[in-house]
Amino acid sequence: MANLEQIVSLCKRRGFIYPGSEIYGGLSGIYDYGPLGVELRHNIKQYFWNKFIVEREDIYGMSASILMPERVWEASGHTELFTDPLIECDLCHERMRADQAETITEHEAIHSKKKEKVSWSEPKVFNLLVETKLGASESTATKVYLRGEITQGVHVNFKNVIDSMHPKLPFGIGQIGKAFRNEITPRDFLFRLREFEQMELQYYIKPEEGEGKKQFEFWKDFSLKWYYGLGFKKENLRLRQHGSDERAHYAKDAWDIEYNTAFSGWKEAWGIHHRGDWDLKRHSQYSGVDLSYFDEETKTRFVPWDIECSGGIDRAVLFVLLENFDEDEVGGERRTVLRLPAHLAPVKVAVFPLLKNKPELVKKAREVYEEIKRAIPNTEFDDNGNIGKRYRRQDEIGTPFCVTVDFETLENDTVTLRERDSAKQERVSTKVLAKFITTK
Ligand code: ATP
Repeated sequence: MANLEQIVSLCKRRGFIYPGSEIYGGLSGIYDYGPLGVELRHNIKQYFWNKFIVEREDIYGMSASILMPERVWEASGHTELFTDPLIECDLCHERMRADQAETITEHEAIHSKKKEKVSWSEPKVFNLLVETKLGASESTATKVYLRGEITQGVHVNFKNVIDSMHPKLPFGIGQIGKAFRNEITPRDFLFRLREFEQMELQYYIKPEEGEGKKQFEFWKDFSLKWYYGLGFKKENLRLRQHGSDERAHYAKDAWDIEYNTAFSGWKEAWGIHHRGDWDLKRHSQYSGVDLSYFDEETKTRFVPWDIECSGGIDRAVLFVLLENFDEDEVGGERRTVLRLPAHLAPVKVAVFPLLKNKPELVKKAREVYEEIKRAIPNTEFDDNGNIGKRYRRQDEIGTPFCVTVDFETLENDTVTLRERDSAKQERVSTKVLAKFITTK
């Protein structure tokens, strides 16, 4: 497991993640994904989409817009309740969240080093929604919000999905997309961002206590198993129930999957929330459109309950990097290695010619590369520097397999296949190489 500085540095150096708009000094809480980061993030999203949507008969996917009218957020309770308590330092006027003891202590320590004593202002209510305007002229422009959570895009389309797909309860709607929060203190790299991505499932069920408990348990278990699939050790994830004082305004019950971070202990990765009928009822009330469900079997009409699974994608990227980062020794040399599960690795296989100035080796290596690439699209050709340097880079970016084409390849069509975690090497025939790798 790594500390945060090691991950920030690896991400910048190897093209995973950069500070947003860096050449202009950056923006706090905003990061950009580079060539390798975007692949890792894509693989996490794909894994979510496959397990929560594609492989399930009872769940539909959708993709709602980022911009939504003010009325949506009044209905959902966000304009009133999506707030954090804000306090201000009387010495430097920096603003903090009154409920984050750790940040406050750190800030007080900075002043106390200079023999200063902070006195904090009374807490003020600060709303996290990011607003903007749409419309060509000042007088006609309307206030809209960049969504603070992707959830509401699903609830406002509940009737559309019912009318167009005719699902029977229980059924779910999942989506992936950006959310925006004007966090008071964005911090810890990708942990608390102002622009981030979420992956969510809203699972609609009959409004009945027993069914609610059963479905809630099912999705808690399903979510935890899914999260372990990102490559976490048993002891580094846990489920924790929210106390009644911690629960969001809509929640009847709420649990978090937490990750044991090296930088500040257990932190929320994913939430499972019993939202009851809060959202559908409120949207019915505010929009005037009936969002109830007619049950053909019992001939009754009711508003379903919603069990939500909600995870941050950027947090998953950060936690996956922290968990899988390792340093060990191979052949007497220190190396950094990212032990990513193969399905998440940005590059699956790297192919090298042993020497880049031998045309016959380069030609053969390109042939081998093209053949593997047909079976495994995320295959990379690498002839930079010497072989040691190439292994170091591939280990650091988490590539599970490296293939080296050498003089023996020209004689008998075998290559050296090196496995990342053990650094063990074996000779494999090019004829079976792609199959050999995919079944490993
Ligand atoms: P926190 O208590 O950490 O602010 P939250 O309880 O407000 O999080 P939810 O509203 O439940 O979070 O959002 C669901 C998921 O979205 C979280 O589990 C987290 O992974 C992710 N998330 C929320 N806020 C942020 C943020 N500012 N930056 C990155 N990811 C976030």
